[in-house]
Amino acid sequence: MGPPASALVVHVLLSLFLLVSSFPPQSTLSFDEGQNLFPSWRTLNSLPVSSLGSYRRPCSADRLPFEDMQNGSSDIMFMAEQSSFVEWLKFVRRSVHENPELAFEEFHTSALIRRELDNIGVSYRWPVAGTGVVASIGSGKPPFVALRADMDALPIQERVEWAHKSKTAGKMHACGHDAHVAMLLGAANLLKRRVEKLQGTVLLIFQPAEEGATGAMRMIEEGALGQAEAIFALHVSHAQPTGVVGLRAGPVLAGCGFFKAIVIGKGGHGAIPQNTIDPIAAASSIVQSLQHVVARESNPFDAQVVSVTMLDGGTAFNVIPDSVVIGGTFRAFTAEKFEALRRRIKEVIMKQAEVHRCKAEVDFLEETFPFSPPTVNDIHLNEYVKKVAGGVVGSQNVVEVKPMMGAEDFAFYTRVIPGVIYFLGIRNETCGSVHSPHSPLFSIDESVLHVGAALHAAIAEQYLEQARGSDNVQATQVMPP
Ligand SMILES: [Zn+2]
Ligand SMILES: [Zn+2]
Repeated sequence: MGPPASALVVHVLLSLFLLVSSFPPQSTLSFDEGQNLFPSWRTLNSLPVSSLGSYRRPCSADRLPFEDMQNGSSDIMFMAEQSSFVEWLKFVRRSVHENPELAFEEFHTSALIRRELDNIGVSYRWPVAGTGVVASIGSGKPPFVALRADMDALPIQERVEWAHKSKTAGKMHACGHDAHVAMLLGAANLLKRRVEKLQGTVLLIFQPAEEGATGAMRMIEEGALGQAEAIFALHVSHAQPTGVVGLRAGPVLAGCGFFKAIVIGKGGHGAIPQNTIDPIAAASSIVQSLQHVVARESNPFDAQVVSVTMLDGGTAFNVIPDSVVIGGTFRAFTAEKFEALRRRIKEVIMKQAEVHRCKAEVDFLEETFPFSPPTVNDIHLNEYVKKVAGGVVGSQNVVEVKPMMGAEDFAFYTRVIPGVIYFLGIRNETCGSVHSPHSPLFSIDESVLHVGAALHAAIAEQYLEQARGSDNVQATQVMPP
């Protein structure tokens, strides 16, 4: 049995409020599209989702052979396995975990990252998108490849009792972004020690605000990708045992949007309904009809979700209220299906309200929660990651995963350049690392930290090696991050 519905509504509303209230005003930075090839945040945000991919700029990634790679993976893994390195990674992860910060408030986390980069001797640009950091290692010349980690925590009270439990009430790293920060810093450390092998430049992107899906957009708008021609990221996952890499080419995470509607009637006495226009009756029809959008209109083999998660109306047993608020989320794996859901959600709400003599207003909350497009892994680069990951963890520990209905703002980067997000297993019953992300019991098998660092480093180093050998790279350009 779950908690009562009213408690769920309060929880969802509170979460929404916390998320909304934590976002600063939107940036008003101007942007020269001609120079940067990036659409501005505003432009990006106002685009129909069906235009996904239209901003992908040309790059050499599609043409790279990814064959006969000199296998530096085992060297990198050997470096990563050293006990002093493993202990340092744990220290970093635990420091971030103890001091979780919500979206765009990652000030201490950002300072910690910069301090560690200073210690390693790696230069960086800061601030980017408020708290973001973009570090740079290598020749300072093309080719450029980007690695990304997210820094933000969630408004959740940690219920894991351990020595490094969150010190901030109501905030917790329950999605593993603390581990992502440690792993990317680990990659910075490894790559810095192998800088003479880098045949180009690695950009290490530490971004704010993945939860809420505006961090990546802000980073792109403020130029974080520079001249990077490909981008890679990992996310920890309980779906696989510790150290096992999960991959999927093509759509891997859903596009995500939210909606909120107000159904307006005319309130009055509950015993005299004929003098009212009842928004409760209208809202209940709307909720029922929204269930049919996916169940009756979409192909059962085409994964889509419409969930009503908020329903708020009425304050007394004998009063029909003036209005009811409905809210929820919708998910799909292609831009077209996503657009179709959006159109139908609005139609259903407006027309069902009309049937019940009510009015309705539908808001997709794009200013606050921009639509997160489906995350689509580049097919060619996915094969590349598969090969490199096989060299790091052994090919028997690289598996194909199924698409997931969760969303990732990594998708925004892959609208600009090709990329791959892959999943690094952390499931380990012996240390309690079994709870799903966003659970107050979420924990991580820390023995995976050096594996993530090695994966990042190997993927970047060998990408540059391959790209350098391709004829599409202009070696004379210089572009610090
Ligand atoms: Zn999350
Ligand atoms: Zn996450």
